[in-house]
Amino acid sequence: MPGDAASARRVRVRVEGTVQGVGFRPSVYRLAVELGLAGWVLNDDRGVVLEAEGAAAAVERFLVRLREDAPPLATLERVLTEDVQPTGEGGFSIVASERGSKPLALVAPDVATCAACLRELLDPDDRRHRYPFINCTDCGPRFTIVRGVPYDRPLTTMAGFQMCAACRSEYDDPADRRFHAQPNACPVCGPSLALLDATGSALATSDPLATVASALASGSVLALKGLGGYHLACRADHDQAVATLRARKHREEKPFALMASDLEAARELVELSAAEEELLLGRERPIVIARRRPAAGVATPVAPGSPDLGVMLPYTPLHHLLLDDARGPLVMTSGNVSDEPIAYDDADAVERLREIADLFLVHDRPIQTRTDDSVVRSLGGLRPAALMVRRSRGYVPASLGLPIPAPCPLLACGAEQKSTFCVAKEARAWVSHHIGDLENWETLRSFRAGIAHFERLFAVEPEVVVHDLHPEYLATKYAVERDGVELQAVQHHHAHLAACLAEHGETGPAVGAIYDGTGLGDDGTVWGGEVLAGGLADSRRAGHLLAVRLPGGERAIREPWRMACAWLVAAGEARRPRRLAEVDAGRWEQVAELARSGLASPLTSSVGRLFDAVAALCGLRAEVTYEGQAAIELEAAADPTAQGRYPLPLAPAAPAADFLLDARETVLAITRDLDGGTPVGVVAARFHCTVAAGTAEACARAAEGEGTAVVVLSGGVFQNRLLVERTVAALEQRGLRALVPERLPPNDGGISYGQAATAAARLAGS
Ligand SMILES: [Zn+2]
Ligand SMILES: [Zn+2]
Repeated sequence: MPGDAASARRVRVRVEGTVQGVGFRPSVYRLAVELGLAGWVLNDDRGVVLEAEGAAAAVERFLVRLREDAPPLATLERVLTEDVQPTGEGGFSIVASERGSKPLALVAPDVATCAACLRELLDPDDRRHRYPFINCTDCGPRFTIVRGVPYDRPLTTMAGFQMCAACRSEYDDPADRRFHAQPNACPVCGPSLALLDATGSALATSDPLATVASALASGSVLALKGLGGYHLACRADHDQAVATLRARKHREEKPFALMASDLEAARELVELSAAEEELLLGRERPIVIARRRPAAGVATPVAPGSPDLGVMLPYTPLHHLLLDDARGPLVMTSGNVSDEPIAYDDADAVERLREIADLFLVHDRPIQTRTDDSVVRSLGGLRPAALMVRRSRGYVPASLGLPIPAPCPLLACGAEQKSTFCVAKEARAWVSHHIGDLENWETLRSFRAGIAHFERLFAVEPEVVVHDLHPEYLATKYAVERDGVELQAVQHHHAHLAACLAEHGETGPAVGAIYDGTGLGDDGTVWGGEVLAGGLADSRRAGHLLAVRLPGGERAIREPWRMACAWLVAAGEARRPRRLAEVDAGRWEQVAELARSGLASPLTSSVGRLFDAVAALCGLRAEVTYEGQAAIELEAAADPTAQGRYPLPLAPAAPAADFLLDARETVLAITRDLDGGTPVGVVAARFHCTVAAGTAEACARAAEGEGTAVVVLSGGVFQNRLLVERTVAALEQRGLRALVPERLPPNDGGISYGQAATAAARLAGS
């Protein structure tokens, strides 16, 4: 009995944020017991609600420590406290969840195996020694196994496993570190491994992991059921195995990700800064793209021609066991054929991967939501520490704020490549996991299923559906077909601007340099090198890169030499450069004619295509096998010690815009430099500095006109670390404040959130 009723205080506290499935209730319980308070705590549809009663000073301490002692995975967004009448009850308890009709509780992302679980995993005396599904309140699967909210075992894919007595007592004991750990399991009661051959038939083995390790050593390709889907794995140092995987997967040159057993092993593959090590070890466990070591013991076909390697560390107990047994880094790439989405359903996985994998290591815990590995790069000395390339497992479904709350529930359908969608209500938005390029039936199915799941999980019933201006995007078609909703169209590059503003809590006015591959502009032409001025709701085109022809349309994207040709034609210089001698003279002339006549060759102001053109002029890449390849290689080629830059004047562009960035002189100067024998590394560095300086000048002019000092840099081109660093420096020199995407990718993965932020701002203002 906590004190007499006269001096007792009782509070009712509502906590919102990521507080379910992260051990928040047990931490409240332990704190209350420690402070001698009575009361209760429960999960409900909006988060956690509790009452605590006791001596006034103890209650005061409780309220302070509620935040300070919150478990590592909890994010407390809002804590509302009110005094209520003391009841004189004794003891503190955790009450069963209430099932409400409108859940707003936040589901946590999946979390890498924690140190305590890892110790048990490797302890021969522990009852979970080498148990591949060990987890606790601080780690393990979350988003990938959740079927609904509140986050409780019956609403996860663990529902089919009945806890044994030992697991149950851990689960029920508030002092235990597995108290209410929903996926809690052990070898007696939990999921188990199975080994299948390429036809899907079970292989008899007493130790599937040992069998797998020896098969990998002899060059086999393994399909591995992971957390958010299937991986394809093989030894990273086995030339034949990697080449086989590449051939069977129909993937030409795009680098394969690697998994190293620990930080030491990762350091042998790539050079790691402190920031990169921190990213690697983070509980999200993304793939970190870092500079490859010359002596990295990796087969050539892992990342042909790439200066970087993508490396991650084990994030499930199964990965830890597999990597320990394999005794060397593994290729760990998405379980799919070329551009299809990653396989996650067991029957489907065997069907789709049987031609690729020699054997399957699977388990019987279903995956609810297909979730790819996330990919990040470090931005070195710049804030933020991470540049998000793909935001998925480990980050999703953490919510983002909306600076202008949505007056009604929203769904934003995103763009076409690197598709994500976003649901939002009030001041909160949930951006989906990476869906992939929305250009086939399977990805579209995944997109539709994902939307239905998010609408249920976050209780969003959209009244407004937001889409891109492009009528042919499957995401746009999906939006238009939704019944009973209001539609709202948002221009592609404006959505990039809005996404970056919104994640920084800004509403504008601001200027944005938005550089990417393609997006449909207000005027029906293909944009991609835009200087926009405005705010969350709307912006106008203040300036843009001079538009040139895309000779032969889509083909020019796969064949950067065509862009070199188009730029030279635009600059009045159609001669085929020396470094493009591999291109047949007749073809060059045909493409030059397309560029001159404009036949089947739309105009584009894309900066991505300008990078392609320069990479081709440098002789780095006449053709590419994956998106962004030429620009990636141009960045890698840049000599960081090189000085100088090329002209990139601002020219008048009335009446459509205030100015344009005229890169014709840039291209001619590059050609002269190369003809004069200047090394490619110097030319590449000068080109990056040129774009950075020209962008800063253009933004300064637009910012002055707009009366702002805030400049956003976004769009897929700004995945280029060198360009981001140089442009931010140039902007800051001019006294401007640069914002870059931190929580979402600068590429089209961030579009859906920008659409939602824009629609919310427009609806709130109308
Ligand atoms: Zn753990
Ligand atoms: Zn058990």
